[in-house]
Amino acid sequence: MAKVSLKNVYKRYEGGFVAVSDFNLEIEDKEFIILVGPSGCGKSTTLRMVAGLEDITEGEIYIGDKLVNDVPPKDRDIAMVFQNYALYPHMTVFDNMAFGLKLRKIPKDEIKRRVEEAAKILEISHLLERKPKALSGGQRQRVALGRAIVRNPKVFLMDEPLSNLDAKLRVQMRVEITKLHQRLATTIIYVTHDQTEAMTMGTRIVVMKDGVVQQVDDPTKIYQHP
Ligand code: ADP
Ligand code: ADP
Repeated sequence: MAKVSLKNVYKRYEGGFVAVSDFNLEIEDKEFIILVGPSGCGKSTTLRMVAGLEDITEGEIYIGDKLVNDVPPKDRDIAMVFQNYALYPHMTVFDNMAFGLKLRKIPKDEIKRRVEEAAKILEISHLLERKPKALSGGQRQRVALGRAIVRNPKVFLMDEPLSNLDAKLRVQMRVEITKLHQRLATTIIYVTHDQTEAMTMGTRIVVMKDGVVQQVDDPTKIYQHP
C-alpha cells in the first residue's frame, strides 16, 4: 500500500567499509521486489536501512511520500520477517502475534480480532494457545508472518524468510507468500540468494554485487539463458 524510494543511498560502516553504494530504486505500490546477489553484497544492509535498523550514511529513503531517514523503525509502517523467526519462546502463539500491537497500545478487542483474522488466513487458528517449541518449522514461520500481518503494515520486508526450512516446506511457503502478497495487496521487499524464489515470486528483481546495483528487471529478463 505504499511505494518505497531509495535515492543515492550509501552505507559506510564504522571502520570505513562501504556496504551499499549509490543505491537508486523506485519500488511501486504493491510491487513484490526481490533483492538477490552473493552473500555479503549488501542485501540485508539495504533492507535494514529501509526498516530503520541501520543508519543511512548518505542519501534518502521515502516510504510513500514521507522522508523516513530520521523516523524510528516503529513509526515506519513496515513489518519485518527474518529467517530465524525470532519468536518469544515463553509466549503462546497468540501472545507472540499480539506483542507488537500491545506495544503500540492497540485496544484488546481489536488485537484479538486482528490476531484471529491473521491466524485464519495462515491456517494456524488451532495453534494459538501453543508455545513455539510445540510447533513445526513451517508453523513457526507462519507465526512469524502472522506477527507481521497483524500490524497491517504498508510495506513488508522479508530477509531470507524461508532459508531455514526444508526443501518441501520452502516450495509450499513460496506459494503461500505469493498468495499473501495478492490477498493483502501490499508492497514486499524480499531478500534471497535462492534463484527459484527470485524467479517465481517477484514482480521485479534487483541484482546486487559488492554493494552496487547491477541490474533491475523482470525475472524472465534476469534469468534468460542463451
Ligand atoms: P548480504 O545481506 O548481501 O549478505 P550484508 O548487507 O549483510 O550482505 O553485508 C554487506 C557487507 O557489509 C558484508 O561485507 C558485511 O560483512 C558488511 N557488514 C554488515 N554489517 C556490518 C557491520 N555492522 N559492520 C561492518 N560491516 C558490516
Ligand atoms: P545475513 O547475511 O543473513 O544478514 P549476517 O550473519 O551476515 O546475516 O549478519 C548478522 C548480523 O551481523 C547483522 O545484523 C549484520 O549487520 C551484522 N554483521 C554482519 N557482518 C558484520 C561485520 N563484518 N561486522 C560487524 N557486524 C556484522
